[in-house]
Amino acid sequence: MRRDAAPVAGAVGICCGPHCGAADHGQASGMEQKPSVLVVGAGIVGLCTAWYLARAGADVTLVDRDGPGEGTSSGNAGAISAGSVAPLAMPGILRQVPGMLLDPKGALHIPARYWPKALPWLWRFVMEARPERVEKIAEALAVLLNGAEDRHLEILEAEGALDLIERNGQLYLYHNPAHLAKDDAAWALRRAHGLDMRVLNRIEVLELEPEVSKTYGTGVFLPQQSHSVNPLRQARVIARGVERMGGRILRGSVSAVIAEERRVTGAIVDGTPIRTDHVVLAAGAWSAKLLAPLGIKVPLESQRGYHIMLPTPGVMPRRPVVPADRKVFITPMEDGLRIAGSVEFGGTEAPPNPARAAMLLEDLARVYPQADMRDARPHWMGHRPCLPDSLPVVGPVKAWPGLWCAFGHGHLGLTGSAPTGAMIASAMLGPKPNTDLTPFGVERFA
Ligand SMILES: Cc1cc2nc3c(=O)[nH]c(=O)nc-3n(C[C@H](O)[C@H](O)[C@H](O)COP(=O)(O)OP(=O)(O)OC[C@H]3O[C@@H](n4cnc5c(N)ncnc54)[C@H](O)[C@@H]3O)c2cc1C
Repeated sequence: MRRDAAPVAGAVGICCGPHCGAADHGQASGMEQKPSVLVVGAGIVGLCTAWYLARAGADVTLVDRDGPGEGTSSGNAGAISAGSVAPLAMPGILRQVPGMLLDPKGALHIPARYWPKALPWLWRFVMEARPERVEKIAEALAVLLNGAEDRHLEILEAEGALDLIERNGQLYLYHNPAHLAKDDAAWALRRAHGLDMRVLNRIEVLELEPEVSKTYGTGVFLPQQSHSVNPLRQARVIARGVERMGGRILRGSVSAVIAEERRVTGAIVDGTPIRTDHVVLAAGAWSAKLLAPLGIKVPLESQRGYHIMLPTPGVMPRRPVVPADRKVFITPMEDGLRIAGSVEFGGTEAPPNPARAAMLLEDLARVYPQADMRDARPHWMGHRPCLPDSLPVVGPVKAWPGLWCAFGHGHLGLTGSAPTGAMIASAMLGPKPNTDLTPFGVERFA
């Protein structure tokens, strides 16, 4: 990494042409010198990417305007859902759009003031629900997510923090078999991609989670899925690992990436240019703003979500419990019970909406009427970085050698972070991955 004021000619010596930016060029140079990489964004995706890059021998600098993992990545539901390959837009989604627009209490809501901004995005989202697209998206997600848990365990084992992951499965709740049947297509798709799932009757639900209310008579148990008991601690552990391997973590705001002679050579951090061989954009829901000046438009939307923590709830499931109609996760964390969910459009600037957060406690009461909510902590809000095809943007930017993307993981950013980091590191530094990154390319929006 170089902090300097003047452009450095030929700063990136490992790339051979204007359409490069891909795999073997990092490896071809012989690597006498460690390539320098600036990772923009220290959310869980940037952290895991920095971790794998540092482990592969890169000279890594990670920059964030906040502390590591303190944004969206701190407050998620903790679910590591490697089998969640069904996109959000499934066939039939069009029928749900009126509810999204008009029902303020729906699991997904778009306030009227945001309709003009959201509608073009929603249109693309609905178009992605065609059966042939859904199949392709699921295939791509399976490539990214299968093995996600192993990648998380690999990092946490190296950092001596395996206690962060609990492997007790996840339990989805339905009112009855007819209610479950509404999600048949999504479950069938996940099962086709290898998800181990067991449909349970009420007695079997109670064997797993004895305190679930009688409203829920049917369950789907996913024994192979796991969860993090503290996503913020997990992020901090990984940050320490990056530093242990020689990486630097800076506090600063990136106003632009530096582009010269059709390649990216660094970024401006708090007004100061930092020169590096590669820049990885992992700025979550804010990533599109940094791409726009390069002429790259990405339909990235924040799907705002909330959580409420109950340090002493009086009930404690052993695993994430998910009332499927509300798409809410009730997750046992090491510091209490976290009720996380709600999908709200509204952009990154508008203040949180306390009414959306309060609905989470109503959702909890439907599953656990006996829960003690008196010491609920103030609500938290975060920004899921979402693309209409439910796929993140991961890999090199063909038009701008030196620039890489790692953002847009939507509802699965904790799950997808570790495999994304591993994929970026091997695409940049080798060994050349078997994975075809084309479905994740930013070029798909061109
Ligand atoms: C309520 C809720 C529940 C969720 N539950 C789950 C779950 O159970 N499982 C799961 O897998 N996923 C879940 N998610 C999704 C997951 O949390 C996100 O996908 C993930 O945190 C995104 O990580 P990220 O690193 O891409 O973004 P972020 O965590 O948002 O990190 C981006 C970072 O970039 C920094 N940044 C942005 N712009 C700049 C700039 N210009 N200069 C410097 N720094 C910048 C920000 O400060 C931020 O720290 C949930 C999300 C929510 C909201």
